[in-house]
Amino acid sequence: MVSVLTTQPLDRPLDYLAPEGGVADGAFVMVPLGPRQVLGVVWGRGLGGFDLKKARRIHAVLPVPPMREEMRDFLTRAGDYTLTSMPAMLRLATRAPGLTNPPSMQKVYRLGEGEPDRMTDARSRVLAVLEEFGGLAFTLKELSDAAGVTSSVIKGLVKQGAVFEENTPRDLPFPRLDPALPGKTLSEAQQAASDTLREGINSGRYGTTLLRGITGSGKTEVYLEAVAACLARGRQAMVLLPEIALSAEFLSRVEKRFGARPAEWHSGVTMTERRRTWKMVAEGGAQLVVGARSALFLPYRDLGLIVVDEEHDSSYKQEDGVLYNARDMAVLRASLAGAQVVLASATPSLESWVNAQAGKYRRLDLKSRFGSAALPEMRAIDMRAEDMPKGRWISPRLQSEVMKRVENGEQALLFLNRRGYAPVTLCRACGDQIECPQCDARMVEHRFLKRLMCHQCGESMPIPETCPKCEAEGTLSAVGPGVERLTEEATELFPEARIATLSSDLFASARALKQAVETIATGGADIIVGTQLVAKGHNFPLLTLVGVIDADLGLHGSDMRAAEKTFQLMRQVAGRAGRAEKPGEALMQTFQPEHPVIRAILSGDEEEFWNAEAESRAQAGMPPFGRMAGIILSSERAEEAFEAGTMLARHDGPIRQAGAVVYGPAPAPIARIRGWHRVRMLVKAPKGVALQRAVSDWIGGVRLPKTLRLSVDIDPQSF
Ligand code: ADP
Ligand code: ZN
Repeated sequence: MVSVLTTQPLDRPLDYLAPEGGVADGAFVMVPLGPRQVLGVVWGRGLGGFDLKKARRIHAVLPVPPMREEMRDFLTRAGDYTLTSMPAMLRLATRAPGLTNPPSMQKVYRLGEGEPDRMTDARSRVLAVLEEFGGLAFTLKELSDAAGVTSSVIKGLVKQGAVFEENTPRDLPFPRLDPALPGKTLSEAQQAASDTLREGINSGRYGTTLLRGITGSGKTEVYLEAVAACLARGRQAMVLLPEIALSAEFLSRVEKRFGARPAEWHSGVTMTERRRTWKMVAEGGAQLVVGARSALFLPYRDLGLIVVDEEHDSSYKQEDGVLYNARDMAVLRASLAGAQVVLASATPSLESWVNAQAGKYRRLDLKSRFGSAALPEMRAIDMRAEDMPKGRWISPRLQSEVMKRVENGEQALLFLNRRGYAPVTLCRACGDQIECPQCDARMVEHRFLKRLMCHQCGESMPIPETCPKCEAEGTLSAVGPGVERLTEEATELFPEARIATLSSDLFASARALKQAVETIATGGADIIVGTQLVAKGHNFPLLTLVGVIDADLGLHGSDMRAAEKTFQLMRQVAGRAGRAEKPGEALMQTFQPEHPVIRAILSGDEEEFWNAEAESRAQAGMPPFGRMAGIILSSERAEEAFEAGTMLARHDGPIRQAGAVVYGPAPAPIARIRGWHRVRMLVKAPKGVALQRAVSDWIGGVRLPKTLRLSVDIDPQSF
């Protein structure tokens, strides 16, 4: 009798009879559940205690390597940490379509021992391809394409034994990466950092390193050395990137460094390729995976290194379904695997900075920029002193600086972190703002797309000609700037310049975005108008000026992380300028140049900023000095959500006993999404409190209506 964890929403694993010949722990199996066959994993020996005659038998054992104990441990611990059910955790680990299909076979071709009876041009091309790629196997199509011959030429060579044909499973290993190929000659600072990382890898034990250095300081080059060290030891490595759009540049860098492309794992990868990747990761036929956060749940055979690039990036926090932070899960996973973690960033998260200060993480700093380029000079434009015409957002001073760059054949970036044309659309007759019918959010005009869009639920509608409220005609007007409006202004101010707008709405696919980025990088635009999409890692060698339209934008609002986020974003954006030979400059339009965060950004004194920020969080007992959980209660009826919150607040015994406090219920930051009313509660606990236990005891002890949805977010991003 074995217990099998399935992906079905049951509260515990079920007992099944093992098939003839037994079954290993961790084996992937199909088991009967009601009338269906479902996917499961043998989780351990059975618990027994029920009628053996009624027990059902495992239907099939799937021909994939069993889930290793380390992975089962990881899922259990990650589930405990995030208060996620085990079936939901298992679903994360089995996101490979076709996993349950039998392996299909295909014919592949490699170099044989025999000699062809006579050599033709076509034949010698085939043999040359096979020789060049050593032991690599090709499918018939790949080989005929590579050699430029028809398949009959290859078949002829097979008959004579010069080419060897064999049947193999369809999912082929990835081409070998060669860690022994030489990398770039490292600077002294890079070499020192790389040596330290290598030492960590060679210890074969867990350790986390925060690799800091401004954009362009050569961090990527350094962690590629860690990847090389890991591969050289025969272990697998994974590099997590925050944006799929960035992976193209990175993949070609890997190819240059190691002679072949790594496996990829993100939403843009085809189904077939996913299945292949999942299997090859399990079997060791993939040495390096480059991917999004979900790559953490792949079944590595022997994981030796996880790199989290741009570790502060908020996209590492999954905000749907299982709420986890990939950075923290990477550390957990690595600690179970005896692997090293490298957290790379120009502007680390406060969490990582504090962990490094406390000695929990090693810290490596790459101080200077690689090569000759200098850090951009950062200055404020005091908007109180600028003479701003109505309806304009580019100050005269910024305008003349942009003009200089354009005339010099350089590029300028105008940064505004607001999608769409204008944040508010207002009726001049009745004063009404157009809101989303389903959310507590304004509809945002996207003039380039000729629609109004809700940024919460994605609802969109054509821009109405009359006010939906008072039906006045032609009275709707845009209030405030978005990137599209900024593009319009730039077009008027710089009629001769070529202007490119980079905002996620304007690109239907990652590929379209990639193309736009390439066009810009190779000089296809003079002025870039962009949202935070441009802050992330793109390389624009001609860019010498960054103009931040509204540096104060992120400072308002009640979020405790506002300062941290603004600081990171501004530095990331400024870091786009001056990456090649030409020095860069960043100008920040602000109405409050004396604000401490703005001052810290301008002075460039990171340590001072982090110290001040850490101090204020510590005083408030806020993360990372205290622990938090966010609870969202949502219901189609507002009263129901509030009543449930009030009930929970009244029965907070387990929370108080643990020494923690409940705040709320209060309307969630977005109080209605897709018609669901949302109420938020926050639990705040001193460090060292078993927060998850207290929260689950608390929630488990209150009977809530079935029509209510509850989600728990441990370590919420905003609080
Ligand atoms: P970061 O990851 O910190 O932004 P990168 O590693 O991408 O920095 O380096 C910035 C640029 O400098 C890249 O174009 C990279 O190829 C180049 N570079 C970095 N280190 C070296 C080196 N040791 N030799 C030559 N070029 C380098
Ligand atoms: Zn909406």
